[in-house]
Amino acid sequence: MLCLGRSLDSPCTLALLVGFQFAFVVYFSLGGFKGLVSVLVRSADPEFDYSKPHDVYTNLSQLGAPLIHPETTGATALASGREHLKDCPDPSPLLVGPVAVLLSSSFSLDQIRDRNPLVLPGGRYLPPDCEPRHHTAVIIPYRNRQAHLRALLYHLHPFLQRQQLHYGIYIVHQMGNSTFNRAKLLNVGVKEALKDGEWQCLFLHDVDLLPENDHNLYVCDPKSPKHVSVAMDKFRYRLPYPQYFGGVSALTPDQYMKMNGFPNQYWGWGGEDDDIAARVRLSGMKITRPSVAVGHYKMIKHRGDRGNEENPRSPDVSNSDLCQDF
Ligand code: UDP
Ligand code: BGC
Ligand code: MN
Repeated sequence: MLCLGRSLDSPCTLALLVGFQFAFVVYFSLGGFKGLVSVLVRSADPEFDYSKPHDVYTNLSQLGAPLIHPETTGATALASGREHLKDCPDPSPLLVGPVAVLLSSSFSLDQIRDRNPLVLPGGRYLPPDCEPRHHTAVIIPYRNRQAHLRALLYHLHPFLQRQQLHYGIYIVHQMGNSTFNRAKLLNVGVKEALKDGEWQCLFLHDVDLLPENDHNLYVCDPKSPKHVSVAMDKFRYRLPYPQYFGGVSALTPDQYMKMNGFPNQYWGWGGEDDDIAARVRLSGMKITRPSVAVGHYKMIKHRGDRGNEENPRSPDVSNSDLCQDF
């Protein structure tokens, strides 16, 4: 090197020092190693223009008439008259990318039903003209959020039909006015959904979160539990902290069993999702996530609910042991 052997105050040494300083500033302003890699390696993720969203009912008229009687559900529906269907194409040709979100729905449940004529009783759906590759139960913990529920159902039914999934929506209602318990309701929902024997994937879904991109597929990762709502508007479209597991997440029944379900001791708001993330790690699994480009969600704004005040954080409760819960 030209500078070797010269004194510290030579222009060459100074230039090197300034150069290093500049490199450090760039490195840290990009967010360290990860940021640098993401700048150097071009991401394979598609880019989406969220300023021009499609109507969430786009392309639904392309779906054929149901091959099954609307009263038929479950295993009978899967079997009857569908023997010669081909597998649904992968990816679904109906996907459109970003979809517009109506945060307050003026639609009644009857109107939502009318706009989704292929949805079967119990909130079930089977693609009419192809054999679905995925079977997903969406489980929603619920109490006293009627307006949110209508906004979600109006949005989610067409969203999921475009993904050509076999799906069912389970709303788990906590009766009465006692303190709300989100994780316990999710345990109940999983137990009920699994009784139906149709599902390979369990989506745990807050009632007030509306997905903004239909490339965010409601399917599980067979290798790892998946945290899905990675870019929520209320957190400025990024994770609030690296371990965040709240909002929307997805597990296979095997993954759920391996982590021994969810904790039942979280009465009131907060902490149960962090505990669930800890249970995933403690049972030897990792958490996967979709890309931020597709994992966009809008949350319907709301105040805290009566009966769901923040719970006291006891170290005995958080990261609770893995052997007692469901
Ligand atoms: N929830 C509900 N009723 C309540 C409290 C909570 O239905 O009184 C459900 C609902 O699905 C909600 C989720 O629990 O989206 C999480 O609660 P919240 O929205 O208050 O949590 P946030 O993520 O907004 O902090
Ligand atoms: C709580 C979580 C919550 C998160 C984001 C954390 O402090 O423990 O339950 O999901 O904040 O609101
Ligand atoms: Mn909320």
